[in-house]
Amino acid sequence: MKRKGGQSRPIPVNETSVADLIPTKSSLGALRSAAAGCRACDLWKSATQTVFGEGSPKAAIMLVGEQPGDKEDLSGRPFVGPAGKILDEALRLAGIDRNEVYVTNVVKHFKWSPDERGKRRIHKKPRSSEIQACHPWLDAEIRLVQPRILVCMGATAAQALLGNNFSVTRQRGRWVRSSLAPKVIGTVHPSSILRARDSESRDSQMQAFVRDLDTVARALKMKPAGRTENGVRQRVGQNRSTEKRTEKRAEEVRRSVPVPDWRADWRE
Ligand code: SF4
Repeated sequence: MKRKGGQSRPIPVNETSVADLIPTKSSLGALRSAAAGCRACDLWKSATQTVFGEGSPKAAIMLVGEQPGDKEDLSGRPFVGPAGKILDEALRLAGIDRNEVYVTNVVKHFKWSPDERGKRRIHKKPRSSEIQACHPWLDAEIRLVQPRILVCMGATAAQALLGNNFSVTRQRGRWVRSSLAPKVIGTVHPSSILRARDSESRDSQMQAFVRDLDTVARALKMKPAGRTENGVRQRVGQNRSTEKRTEKRAEEVRRSVPVPDWRADWRE
């Protein structure tokens, strides 16, 4: 590109759109490789690596979150940090095998800023321009996996996929009409459970999350319809080991991340 006076200027890397990078004969492996070199927005600059989706290419359920966190950024795998552990627990309680789902995020690089002492990386919510720039990767994942059920976890994922008017608070746990998959549903992001102010509130938020995933499991006939609200309460509230594990993970996060910033970011 020439400037006035004939001078060349370097082409900023993010002038390349994701659409230009998506291989024509796509497979999830080819997509993952192409995404590893994505520079279509600025988020790659401060992240360690692209964190692409993971799971069976024939998964009946696709779970979509916002973006990778600190642990995911370091490991290169989605939902392996504290929120991922909560998700594993909730899937287990709902009778869904994590090996049978595909998990991904609307944004594939970790957006963060340093804490006051510059020692910790604090999650920052992606801007809509960043979500839009990254969207073709998610579109391609949905096109290839063709899940029977798409689960949007948290407001960022739900609004990116279902429109800005979608309210997780009001519409969670209910099927939504969408061309993205035969069945689409919104629920909270598991991080929001870790941010609950006390164990009672965390317990009830976990119950509600498992209830939403129960709806998903029932739609796939992974379990009989008879597993009721009382069943969810029993599985979550009266399961002492689950409670302890959830509390331990919440404590890990409280120690590793200052709460107020995240709380604001993850508020539904
Ligand atoms: S966040 Fe998405 S669009 Fe931006 S550089 Fe990373 S992979 Fe590319």
